[in-house]
Amino acid sequence: MTSRHPKGLPILFFTEMWERFSFYGMRAILVLYLTQETLGSNPGMGWTNTEALALYGWYTMLVYVMSIPGGIIADRWLGQKKTVFLGGLLIAAGQFSLAVNDVTMFYAGLVLLITGVGCLKPNISTMVGGLYKEGDSRRDSGFIIFYIGINIGAASAPLLVGYVGEEIGWHYGFGLAGIGMILGQVVYIWGQKHLKEVGNFVPVKKIEGTKKNAPLTKIEKDRVIVLLISFIIVIVFWGAYEQAGGLMNLYTKEKINRIVFGYEIPASLFQSVPAFFVIIFGTIVASFWAKRNLKGKESSSLFKMAIGTIVMGTGFLMMSGAALEAGDSGKAMLIWLILSYLLQVLGELSISPVALSFITKLAPVKYASIMMGIYFAATGLGNKLAGLVGQLAQNAGELEVFTGIFIFCLLFGALLLVFFKKLKTLTHGAEDTVKNDT
Ligand code: GLN
Repeated sequence: MTSRHPKGLPILFFTEMWERFSFYGMRAILVLYLTQETLGSNPGMGWTNTEALALYGWYTMLVYVMSIPGGIIADRWLGQKKTVFLGGLLIAAGQFSLAVNDVTMFYAGLVLLITGVGCLKPNISTMVGGLYKEGDSRRDSGFIIFYIGINIGAASAPLLVGYVGEEIGWHYGFGLAGIGMILGQVVYIWGQKHLKEVGNFVPVKKIEGTKKNAPLTKIEKDRVIVLLISFIIVIVFWGAYEQAGGLMNLYTKEKINRIVFGYEIPASLFQSVPAFFVIIFGTIVASFWAKRNLKGKESSSLFKMAIGTIVMGTGFLMMSGAALEAGDSGKAMLIWLILSYLLQVLGELSISPVALSFITKLAPVKYASIMMGIYFAATGLGNKLAGLVGQLAQNAGELEVFTGIFIFCLLFGALLLVFFKKLKTLTHGAEDTVKNDT
């Protein structure tokens, strides 16, 4: 973790930090704005909870599903670097549209945001991978650092944009999210000198060893297959993890005793807790896996993902503990929630940055961006699944749903542990490092 990283990494780190600030800031106030009454000092849209949550579900799915066209644009026409820039412009335009108090501008803003994130998010991640040559052992730690940047944006945005949106005015909140994206663009433009080698458009005929439209080799095909299979893990993982914004959020509000030293902490504040845990534990989890690797013990990406799913699932066992304590009408201790988020994040750190790195190792060059696009689309489906599971809990009961998620993750992770060695052979040594910390 200590060796020097390419100069392009801090540029991508800060660009993505601001983009996530913009994304999570807007996301934090979206449902609140939609459900706020149309009269009063800070009027909203006056929607019902159900209507607002439905739009929220579609929005959080579509922002990520649009990564597929975003990836195609980069692979076919623009290259990742220009597509990221275009995405940043669209996102800023989207946030500023939301800053205008007008219904048409509101919907136009959402469309701009969905297309903008689709262009930026997968391609900036692929560019991080492009900073490292094949076999470079710094790649995984580079992605951990990048992931910490994401979460600095994600931790601070709900606090700042949330405050401005709720206390001063919703449209000022959206405007602040837009300013965040502009700052990201400024960093990106300023840092172009450190990104000369990465994210440029590569015409298919120029890719080493490939003829124009040449079919994939057997090794490439195997690697694509293992990537697609790993995307199933991704759907399961985010389907459970993304309860945070919905079911866990509501549960915190209604059934967790949030009084600390006589002061009741607002439920929305807990939305920043997982991101803070990522910042605190990011390098610790990464060095745990790196040390295991040095000792020659199993630490391939697929193995980490299996363990990550189980650890994250255990977080839901803590919520079962809370549900048992609270019963129908009581309240549960705060520690259950904190432990739950801690375990979920320890799992996340063994999956999410690991998957980003894994994709950049395995994807054939000509499909590099589209594979990243499909990955994010899978996370989008996970988001939608999370919404459906949250709805289920309204009828089935929280204890049943929390325990069900735990058992499912445990069994799914165990199944992966049984099969991961077989899947690993399909990677054809893509994870072998050829040089150490240069
Ligand atoms: N929380 C991470 C981010 O915002 C991962 C999101 C995802 O993969 N859907 O980048």
